[in-house]
Amino acid sequence: MQDAITTSSNDPCVACRRRALTLFGARRGYRYYRCGGCGTLQLVPMPDPEALRRDYAEGYARADHWQQGPGLRNAAVRGQSQALVDALTRNGIRSNLLEVGSGWGALLDLMREHGIDCEGVEPSCEMRAHCVTQGHTVHAGTLETLDAPLRYDAVVFSSVFEHLVEHERCLEASRALLAPNGFLISLQPTALFPTFAATVIRFGMRRLPLPQLHHVLCPPWHTVIFSIDGMSALLGRHGFRLHAVHIAPQQRDAGLTGIAQRVLERVNRVGWRVAGVRWPLAVGHVFEFQKVDDTTPTQEGSEI
Ligand SMILES: [Zn+2]
Repeated sequence: MQDAITTSSNDPCVACRRRALTLFGARRGYRYYRCGGCGTLQLVPMPDPEALRRDYAEGYARADHWQQGPGLRNAAVRGQSQALVDALTRNGIRSNLLEVGSGWGALLDLMREHGIDCEGVEPSCEMRAHCVTQGHTVHAGTLETLDAPLRYDAVVFSSVFEHLVEHERCLEASRALLAPNGFLISLQPTALFPTFAATVIRFGMRRLPLPQLHHVLCPPWHTVIFSIDGMSALLGRHGFRLHAVHIAPQQRDAGLTGIAQRVLERVNRVGWRVAGVRWPLAVGHVFEFQKVDDTTPTQEGSEI
């Protein structure tokens, strides 16, 4: 792994398109590279989209990414779901919504509690079936296969954007499904925390296997962990502008992990006030992007 061929890649960065990828580390036979331009971490090569589609449809609900069933899983992400409800409320959005990748329905449940009307689309047969039994409208498949008769005021991604392999197709589909000035809102892990933590834990030695970091570096499911700059560059190329970014709450698990998550969340509240988007212990962020009519590619997004 220490030869010159594998320590850098000539592929352009998924986010900013610069050719500045260097090996960050390997896990389970997959390799994450880091972009020297925007700091985004990404798998090179990307997993095959067709193979992943089959895995999501048939086996993901029982895969080793999150083995918890709907009860435990939905309770663990309740704080994150609340952060997304807050983002919708801040922007006055209460209906005409689509959640992409509804999972076990944690966000759909919470939105219903808040009187927010939302439907979903979910590729996992098992997870979609659970949502339907809970009374939610959830379409089978993915954003790209959805044939919606109306345009939405917002599309929402809760811990989904880091799973994508075909970002261009997803964002084009999002634009097509959104009404003018519609919002794309995403809660997702971001790159500073795994970059910082995986460097410290490995004493700076990139030949050592990457730590999982509580499912943040979890191939093949997590394909790209975007930086904030990387998200702005990618979405900027597809006709979205960054409206706001907020620090995301931690997931809440039981036992010692849960205690560590609570402590980190309190530390992060202070760090966010002091260092803002440069705070390296923020595990994730909530992005609020707004669709703009001008789709002219930005200078930032041009290939170098
Ligand atoms: Zn980049």
